[in-house]
Amino acid sequence: AVKVSDLSMSYGDLDVLKGVDLDIAKGTVTCIIGPSGSGKSTLLRCLNRLVEPKGGNILLDGESILAMKPESLRRRVGMVFQHFNLFPDHTALENVMLSLTKIKRMPKGEARRIAEMRLTEVGLAGRKDHRPASLSGGQQQRVAIARALAMDPEVILFDEVTSALDPELVKGVLDLMANLGRQGMTMAVVTHEMGFARKVADQVVFMDEGRIVEAGPPGQIFDNPRSERLKRFLAEVL
Ligand code: ATP
Ligand code: MG
Repeated sequence: AVKVSDLSMSYGDLDVLKGVDLDIAKGTVTCIIGPSGSGKSTLLRCLNRLVEPKGGNILLDGESILAMKPESLRRRVGMVFQHFNLFPDHTALENVMLSLTKIKRMPKGEARRIAEMRLTEVGLAGRKDHRPASLSGGQQQRVAIARALAMDPEVILFDEVTSALDPELVKGVLDLMANLGRQGMTMAVVTHEMGFARKVADQVVFMDEGRIVEAGPPGQIFDNPRSERLKRFLAEVL
């Protein structure tokens, strides 16, 4: 479980997060929605300390991540980005193996076994020896997801992972993520895919101007929004 309390973050004198409180229960999917610039990516980045918060706290299973060693945090919190961030000179298999051998210091043989298993799970057993350039965007994103899964993290963060994909590839990746959610993976998903959020999320969080304006089950957020800001946002995106 993840517990965010009174989290604040600034870029220089621009306040980007202004006291965010958020609970992500183990085995649940939280979708984070909101307008561009509202701080969604920054919130995820704080959760694995790609940026340092200015104030507040983040607990992972009761332990403050601000006191954790970076390697330990990398192991425990996975992240998947919009632009895959794969190593171009390595095959799919090697891309998944690398974090296991480097961050987990796992022997190669064992890393290979796990990487093959994870690539099979995301439907890429037959493409494991291809480099990113000879994979479709959807396949590259599956490699990135397999890489995150291979670490066996306690939570995986997804930041608009389908936004850069050709439309016909989006559904496959969303279906894969929905499956992970059903299998009990704890996930925080920043997304513009409202259909996905409605169908898959246990909790939907609406952010605006660095604050969580509303949070609740999808039925409440999409069918019964309370704030004017959320109503306006939904009118624009739905
Ligand atoms: P989007 O939907 O467009 O991805 P977002 O909700 O993810 O938006 P963030 O990327 O968290 O928003 O950005 C929040 C604010 O912080 C924006 O005003 C943005 O311009 C600013 N910002 C983001 N990254 C930086 C940075 N590295 N340096 C300075 N300002 C930044
Ligand atoms: Mg963003």
